[in-house]
Amino acid sequence: MQIKIHRGTHQIGGCITEIKTSLSRIIIDMGAELPSANKTACDFEIDGVTCGTPNCDAVLITHYHGDHVGMYEKILPEIPIYMGAVAKNIYGVVQKTLKTKLNQGNPQRVADFYEYYIGKPLFFGDIKVTPYIIDHSAFDAYMFLIESEGKRILHTGDFRMHGARGNKMPAVFEKYAKDIDVLIIEGTMLSRNSEKIITEHELGVQAKNLFAEHKNVFVLCSSTNIDTIAEFYNAAIECNKPFIVCEDDFQAEILRIVTQSTYSPFYDFSKQKVFSYAPNLNSFMNERGFCFIGRANYITKKTMECFPNSMLVYSMWKGYLDKTHAAFDKYKSEFLENAIKTGCQLEYLHTSGHSSSKDIEKICEITQAKTVIPIHCECPENFAKLNILGNLKILYDGEIYTL
Ligand SMILES: [Zn+2]
Ligand SMILES: [Zn+2]
Repeated sequence: MQIKIHRGTHQIGGCITEIKTSLSRIIIDMGAELPSANKTACDFEIDGVTCGTPNCDAVLITHYHGDHVGMYEKILPEIPIYMGAVAKNIYGVVQKTLKTKLNQGNPQRVADFYEYYIGKPLFFGDIKVTPYIIDHSAFDAYMFLIESEGKRILHTGDFRMHGARGNKMPAVFEKYAKDIDVLIIEGTMLSRNSEKIITEHELGVQAKNLFAEHKNVFVLCSSTNIDTIAEFYNAAIECNKPFIVCEDDFQAEILRIVTQSTYSPFYDFSKQKVFSYAPNLNSFMNERGFCFIGRANYITKKTMECFPNSMLVYSMWKGYLDKTHAAFDKYKSEFLENAIKTGCQLEYLHTSGHSSSKDIEKICEITQAKTVIPIHCECPENFAKLNILGNLKILYDGEIYTL
């Protein structure tokens, strides 16, 4: 079996991994590069996958973040694309909205994605792939166990152990992902080590404290970071605060998909009404107070102007606000500056979607991986500082590793 990381050995995002035998060829993730990446050419091509004669059995997407799926439109139409069923629905809504608002994306292609399910193996010639759900800031995210020629590869995708599903993760690895020959594992946090990681549950407790002290609370977070939104939602219920979301029906639709997909009360967004914001809600919001899940956009900005001196919770990665960082986001930064000018009190409350060093060590230990290949990491060399028993193999983009 051969492994080739086309992209992602020395950067966060833009992930593309190939697994190949003499009979079969699959690709895991077809990610677009994040703004922080030292961009490889945007005309990046893989023969038989994005150009030439189709020569690939399937592209399997671990989760719906753009740095893992964003290049799906480049995949030759003859090649089937697979995604988790719920993730596909959420991504479909995102792509539909993108098409309507900016005439970008291809929602029809997303609707044609094949679906995979937890623990149900997929067969591509002599390659068997079994998806297992994993804890990440994207909902319905997966790792893949890939088996062929008597060998076992585990591709973690993006993961962490401190989200809503975090405490269940060690048992999942223990049960399904031991005796691994090659572990392809993300190492995002190895270059962001100074960040203190709180659990999503701790975030929820702090949200409740904020809601108890502040009547009007705006929250700036990703529309698809379901764990964090669920923590704010459940905290709002406990504090008897109306829960408002912005942007037509886009956010509410995503929360409906999540609610329908699970029996978990934590992810049940029908326990209390989710209001899609419209200006006619202003007097109700004024009377009752609220938790408003917003974005750095015009609607949120205008709404905040109607409620001066509110609390604004920034629940995203701090790097977006760092002018010295390549991922600096001018819109978010200007949005916050403007909010502070209008009298908003700013609070930072966020937790990472990625695994701590300790948890990376734990996974290496549980899986007993003989070889460890880092991806999704700006400094894969930092893996050498971890307490890992397996052989560390640092690849370069495009290099072939044979096992
Ligand atoms: Zn990622
Ligand atoms: Zn991700």
